[in-house]
Amino acid sequence: MQGQVGTVAVTIHRIPKKEYCGVVVLSRQADGSWAGKCSKCGGDFQMDRDARFEGQVRAMRN
Ligand SMILES: [Zn+2]
Repeated sequence: MQGQVGTVAVTIHRIPKKEYCGVVVLSRQADGSWAGKCSKCGGDFQMDRDARFEGQVRAMRN
């Protein structure tokens, strides 16, 4: 099923000017947003519901 709580997605933490920081593992929250931490700097990540991002997640799983 799509959109389950606990679904995990991977993204990249990009910093303006430095560009690449580390890998972020995001997990889906009950409200449909995503949350996780950067593996390198430990920064907290939050992402709102984003149909384009979710399309990419689905593409990765297919
Ligand atoms: Zn980072």
